[in-house]
Amino acid sequence: SIMPAVLSAISANAKRGILFKGGVHVEHAGKIKAIAFDKTGTLTKGKPEVCDFILREGANKDDVLLHAVSIEHHSTHPLAEAIVAYAKEKGSTRLLNPIQVQDTPGVGVKGRFDDGEWRVGQAAFVGEQEAEHFQNGVAKKLAAEGKTVVFIQDTNGIVGVLALRDEIRPETLAAMKALQKQGIQLVMLTGDGEETAQAIAEQSGVDRYVSRCMPDKKAEEIKRIRQEIGTVAMVGDGINDAPALAAADLGVAMGGGSDVALETADMVLMKNELPNIADAIKRSKKMNRIVK
Ligand code: ADP
Ligand code: MG
Repeated sequence: SIMPAVLSAISANAKRGILFKGGVHVEHAGKIKAIAFDKTGTLTKGKPEVCDFILREGANKDDVLLHAVSIEHHSTHPLAEAIVAYAKEKGSTRLLNPIQVQDTPGVGVKGRFDDGEWRVGQAAFVGEQEAEHFQNGVAKKLAAEGKTVVFIQDTNGIVGVLALRDEIRPETLAAMKALQKQGIQLVMLTGDGEETAQAIAEQSGVDRYVSRCMPDKKAEEIKRIRQEIGTVAMVGDGINDAPALAAADLGVAMGGGSDVALETADMVLMKNELPNIADAIKRSKKMNRIVK
């Protein structure tokens, strides 16, 4: 039978929109020494918006955007949705029909058209060297502002750069401070580049970050953190976060997250409220003292 202290902890949490899928997870929450956070949609709102569009000299703006949108139209990534919305806002509603499209999670999307292959994605996807030199390193400057940089490439090389801003949740910084007060180490995991990751980590208040962390590397990172620090929780929202949520001692999903994340998690923040994590851990510690 489930002990009264456990039941009372579960119901106290439930009242505050924190759903534990069993008493054992409440127990684990009280032992957390480190927490890994996904960046996009967890520390940030997950609603990126295009804020800069920079072209190679002589490139045709409409043509570049048309190709980019015709590729992104086939991706469900939040960045893709933002780029499609941006084009619509600019009055560009036409779409080309790519012969073939390939979406590589955490990297970018490529499409084949009559005029050859186009790519939309991160620096490594279009060539690190060229990305770095594009328009005198403009990408680095945009990234240092915490923006996500997406390159557009045709058969001749990079033709443009889109920068997208995804606002940090207003409650993120306070939530991180409350966790640090309990002596918990905070790590941000992101597939984004180094400069963007550094800027967002600083604004969020986490202790450290891992940039260019591909979706399949997030679970590995969780195991590394456990070895180094101890009992570890992972907080995420995306389909890509599911393996990391499963690898953690406590998987935490944002209530607004994907079905897979919600299903895999041990604890769900029904209202997406990050400050609830520190409160839940406090209650769990109290429960562990009573149960022992
Ligand atoms: P995060 O970990 O921040 O949620 P992802 O792992 O999903 O980010 O993606 C990492 C990077 O890969 C993005 O910052 C972007 O540069 C690139 N990328 C991924 N998907 C796309 C896409 N559909 N269009 C453009 N770029 C993409
Ligand atoms: Mg995410």
